[in-house]
Amino acid sequence: MTLPAENETVLNLFEDSDALLNGHFKLTSGKHSEWYFEKIRLIEKPAALEKIVNLLAAKIRREVPEFDYVISPAYGAIAIGFLAALKLGKKFAFTQRADEKMTIRSGFSGLDGSRAVIVEDILTTGGSIQEVIACLREHQVPVAGIYVLVDRSAGAVAIEGKPVGSLLALKVEAYEPEVCPFCAKGIPLTKPGASDKKV
Ligand SMILES: [Zn+2]
Repeated sequence: MTLPAENETVLNLFEDSDALLNGHFKLTSGKHSEWYFEKIRLIEKPAALEKIVNLLAAKIRREVPEFDYVISPAYGAIAIGFLAALKLGKKFAFTQRADEKMTIRSGFSGLDGSRAVIVEDILTTGGSIQEVIACLREHQVPVAGIYVLVDRSAGAVAIEGKPVGSLLALKVEAYEPEVCPFCAKGIPLTKPGASDKKV
């Protein structure tokens, strides 16, 4: 994996948060990879997360002139979106699935007709962000921007024609065990611990 220099700082911040692990990992797909994101760890160290969110907030501030809300899907991105909203001086709300359907958590007021920036932790296929957009559309909430901390598609996924802003865009190679270079080097294989969603 090669990274542009600006990504190095971000990468260091992710490593400081212990969310980005380097080694030899068995993914749920059965393939092996050199990198693994334990994304729940992003919220385990708020001080480390704050440094990452500062960069994200600065990017949103530069790129999105006007909006009212930061919206994040439950649960992993709530802390991230909340922190971003705090830094940006905006309101915050989150969506959650109720009976399989993405909805704005009841009790939040005043979203209808406002403008929103969506903040998610990791972009893989964009499925959940798509659901958030559909949910916001029902409330006549235009989407002013879409941001993620990590874009695992490395820029390949655009959602409804909108680009997705990210701090770190990287495509992580995953290998079948038979052709895994880390197996070939005899590096011990780790199966990462319990996580809702392997990346
Ligand atoms: Zn391997």
